[in-house]
Amino acid sequence: MKRIYCIGLLCMFFACGIHAQNIRIEYAGDPLSSKERNRIEEFLRHEVLFYSQFGLPDTLSLKLIVFEQRKKGMAYLDSIGISAKVPLLNVRGLYNSKRREAILIGREQGKKKSLSIIYHELSHHLTLQITGNHPPTWLMEGLAEYFEHCEIKKGRLKHELTSYELGRVRTMYMLDEIDLKTFVDSKNNRFMQKQRTEESYAYILAHALVSFWIEDVPDDLFKKFIENLRNGKGKLSVYTQIDRLYPGGFERFEQDFSERFKGD
Ligand SMILES: [Zn+2]
Repeated sequence: MKRIYCIGLLCMFFACGIHAQNIRIEYAGDPLSSKERNRIEEFLRHEVLFYSQFGLPDTLSLKLIVFEQRKKGMAYLDSIGISAKVPLLNVRGLYNSKRREAILIGREQGKKKSLSIIYHELSHHLTLQITGNHPPTWLMEGLAEYFEHCEIKKGRLKHELTSYELGRVRTMYMLDEIDLKTFVDSKNNRFMQKQRTEESYAYILAHALVSFWIEDVPDDLFKKFIENLRNGKGKLSVYTQIDRLYPGGFERFEQDFSERFKGD
């Protein structure tokens, strides 16, 4: 495994826009074309710009490991002891915070999709930075899904929830399946269990929730929410934090969210 891991090892440093953020990205695994590396770095600059509004360290450093074949990716995860701990059946990429590694486990789903998965995994690194390493699971995965569903158009990030996702959230409302109060405090295990057993419930709801925070809630409220998470208000439940922060409390938050996504 060591050999695969070392092929194509390459370091890139680049500065990010007006915020003078230094980003060090180390590539490993199977080589990416320079065109793909440029696209990843351009996208990462946009992600960093978004995250910098919440306060990022001056220097960011992470490793991106890409495997063309899922078989090799799984062997690598095995070699670092991940596959024994996490069910990986439908997992296409992951971020390991201890090793600061974003790992793409195979590119069988095509080049475009695999780049989107890379944007997802890179977002995890940044979410950990802005939340003092303790993001609620829905925020961690919701932000990552948000960026996975972004494209750069005319120099700006353009985000879209798919029609499948919008339909799925509407169905959740129809079937009365949404319990936001419980969801915002769901721990990782419960979150992933809901994901596996209820047709992508957790990722889609997290994606919708983050889209709501980014696109509908005033920026200063979202900033304050993240700041509270980072500054140790994490001892309060996320429900309580939103209840205290959002004008009209959690009930109003829930109502505003449902108005955006429930449909007619
Ligand atoms: Zn993820």
